[in-house]
Amino acid sequence: MNDAGAPLTFLREDERMFQSAAYEFAAKEIGPYVREMDREGIFKKDLLAQFFKQGYMGIGIPEAYGGVGGSFFMSVLAIESFARVDASASVIIDVQNTLVSNALLRWGKEEQKRAYLPLLATDTVGAYALSEPQSGSDAFGLETRARAEGGDYVLNGRKLWITNANEAGLFIVFATVNRELGYRGITAFLIERGTPGFSVGKKEDKLGIRASSTCELLLEDCRIPQASVLGEVGNGYKVAIETLNEGRIGIGAQMAGIARGALDHAVRYARERPQFGKAIADFQAIQFQLARLATDVEAARLMTYNAARLKDAGQPFVQEAAMAKYFCSTVAERVASEAVEVFGGYGFTKDYPVEKYLRDAKIGSIYEGTSFMQLQTIARMILGNR
Ligand SMILES: Cc1cc2nc3c(=O)[nH]c(=O)nc-3n(C[C@H](O)[C@H](O)[C@H](O)COP(=O)(O)OP(=O)(O)OC[C@H]3O[C@@H](n4cnc5c(N)ncnc54)[C@H](O)[C@@H]3O)c2cc1C
Repeated sequence: MNDAGAPLTFLREDERMFQSAAYEFAAKEIGPYVREMDREGIFKKDLLAQFFKQGYMGIGIPEAYGGVGGSFFMSVLAIESFARVDASASVIIDVQNTLVSNALLRWGKEEQKRAYLPLLATDTVGAYALSEPQSGSDAFGLETRARAEGGDYVLNGRKLWITNANEAGLFIVFATVNRELGYRGITAFLIERGTPGFSVGKKEDKLGIRASSTCELLLEDCRIPQASVLGEVGNGYKVAIETLNEGRIGIGAQMAGIARGALDHAVRYARERPQFGKAIADFQAIQFQLARLATDVEAARLMTYNAARLKDAGQPFVQEAAMAKYFCSTVAERVASEAVEVFGGYGFTKDYPVEKYLRDAKIGSIYEGTSFMQLQTIARMILGNR
């Protein structure tokens, strides 16, 4: 791991080794395909198979269910390390670990855990479907309906922006059993790909994280057994809030990783690019610019690490998670943008890697709660409910 000159972040030896291994894996295995996957907007299937084989898709799943049995913090280290190389690869393992298997572990009944966790650890990609065309930030305004009928539920509606949908075999889908109940009608369901009435629709052509699939889901009289309810009927809002509170730490890690990756490239380029008879790294303006960015990167990762450690320790972490996501997305955008400047005109082209970091960074202030939603959470915690 090329960490020469990077500040020393406190990590246990096993954590440091795991982080180095994740970064080396990403650099060696994902690195060569990053540009092609970004251009084509498709994630290589072979890489996904390797993610499973190396355990990156089941980090938090206990060994008894075929996973690695690691901490949430380990997932965060892997997400950050992957994002240093490719933000699309990073969000695939992020959704799998921090949302899908995390929700199953917390809310799943034993039969559901036994049925799905071993699959999620070995060969099945998961997706998490809350957003709809009319409900994004106002997630509990969702319109997808689940009607109880003859011991089953019949779902109708449309989900939008669903990460991993193209590859996923298992979907956590939020629907309401009764709109009049408001958020208390919202229920989480486990739906397998191939279920009649369930289909994956249009794939978005995006600005960034282009290799990560983002698709609509269509539910047309999709009949699933009552045993597919994740948690209890009517407590889907809790499943969503609690999982997303944790998921936000993963996005903080993704953004910290993007920032770190962009900085790596900028430092390398500054050492090599000659102007006025010396490397641009010899100009104090560039030195100070890089020093400021390195400080931002360190602050971003420390906020993320702290939020993840609080979560693992069973301590309150909601404010810290919102702060980490908000701050890390601003840092990722700033660092990637200034990395483009360090590269000069070359940075503005697709022949060099930094413009992709800038495009990838933009999503951090949008998904899993926009930056305004994070600020709202932080303000509520500081001021009390208003
Ligand atoms: C690439 C990508 C991947 C995604 N993956 C998933 C996924 O896997 N699963 C999933 O369920 N969803 C996913 N999403 C959806 C994502 O979470 C939503 O896009 C996001 O929550 C914002 O919702 P919206 O797009 O409807 O924007 P809106 O909610 O319409 O927001 C538009 C603007 O209004 C602002 N705004 C809204 N309400 C307020 C308010 N009360 N106060 C101040 N400002 C406000 C917002 O901050 C934003 O700036 C993904 C989206 C993208 C783009």
